[in-house]
Amino acid sequence: MNDVWPDKCGVYILDKESTATRFIDKKIKELDSMDSEEPFQVLNLDTLIQMHLKWLSYLPRVKPFYAVKCNSTETVLRTLNALGTGFDCASKGEISQFLSPGVKPENIIYAHTTKPQSHIKYALLRIAVDDSSSFHRLSSKFGAGLSTTGRLLECAAELGLEVVGVSFHIGSKCSQSLAFRQAIADARSIFDTKLLGFQFSLLDIGGGFSGKDFPVTLQEFSKVINGALDEYFPFESGVQIIAEPGRYYAESTFTLAANVIAKRVIMEDMRKEGVPERLMMYYLSDGVYGSLNFLLTDGQVSPYLHRAVESSEKRYRSVIWGPTCDYIDKIVDNYLIPELHVGDWLLFDNIGAYGISMSTEFNGFKRSSIYSICLMANIYDVCWLTELFICSSHDRNTSSERLSGSF
Ligand code: PLP
Repeated sequence: MNDVWPDKCGVYILDKESTATRFIDKKIKELDSMDSEEPFQVLNLDTLIQMHLKWLSYLPRVKPFYAVKCNSTETVLRTLNALGTGFDCASKGEISQFLSPGVKPENIIYAHTTKPQSHIKYALLRIAVDDSSSFHRLSSKFGAGLSTTGRLLECAAELGLEVVGVSFHIGSKCSQSLAFRQAIADARSIFDTKLLGFQFSLLDIGGGFSGKDFPVTLQEFSKVINGALDEYFPFESGVQIIAEPGRYYAESTFTLAANVIAKRVIMEDMRKEGVPERLMMYYLSDGVYGSLNFLLTDGQVSPYLHRAVESSEKRYRSVIWGPTCDYIDKIVDNYLIPELHVGDWLLFDNIGAYGISMSTEFNGFKRSSIYSICLMANIYDVCWLTELFICSSHDRNTSSERLSGSF
């Protein structure tokens, strides 16, 4: 494997024979040779590019504004900027910290509903929608009920605000594509009131899309969304349609490798064939205060062993913990996995959403390094990427170092 460029461009360009899996093998070998158990993440730019191409093909009328809060890794933002997405920022800080300069102002939306008064010049009216089919129900915190939007618009008119359109967020991890249909219909009802002379020209359908085609694929979402848009906001209406996907882009783009740093075997008195059952406890070099922070609020992970295992190998009931002193730092419980040894590596796919962006250095454990990779084949297809990354060598730094940079 002849990977090139990390020093010059911050991205490992992999040669034709290489794969993300081989890259991970090589990194692990390198770390093992240095007796290092430092966790690391691999950002696969091919996946990111493919996600974007899929978005363009399924939702051609909807311009994505990537939700920066989901994962603000510099290489992700640079790539998406080059691909032509916009960015959804939650604060002035996010705008200036991650996005300046190089991103055109018209490609930034400031979509957090709770803003300091001085920041509101142009506004979108965010409505509360039925988010009962989503894991994270954002309408419990944000958005105006349909019965209150009239009063809010009056208030906006009194304050001299220009309301340019309507937004909603169906809730993160939406499991019912049909939820979008009702939300788009609700937005239409606001447009139809034509209150107070506002010229509504923008509809923002928020986020909520999964990045790993589960539980709903983008194709399924797109069928419902495109149908509802054609019915309620046909092309001739001239309304610009945008979205704020976060998880969709980031989730499947990152893989984590974490090392088994300690192990405990508990002999439980649930005897089988006269022998007490064993409960395994493993402690990894990364956990819920680090790259897997999303586990505090969200879902599950399914780690797997990096080294090959025989299918016949016995599986043990195991608990996998993160490295900190806190008992909340539990990654997975009751997990059936072959016996691990100190020094083994576990891999976690699909960990790019709301992990690194919310990670901490609790207990003094450093954030994982991020290595960005791209396959040669793609680079030839998308040759502008090569230029994009020249002069950016931050990817081998820790994310905390990178956060203080700008692009
Ligand atoms: N926009 C806003 C205002 C949000 O609060 C969120 C997530 O919380 C997003 C976009 C991104 O949502 P998702 O990651 O589900 O696509």
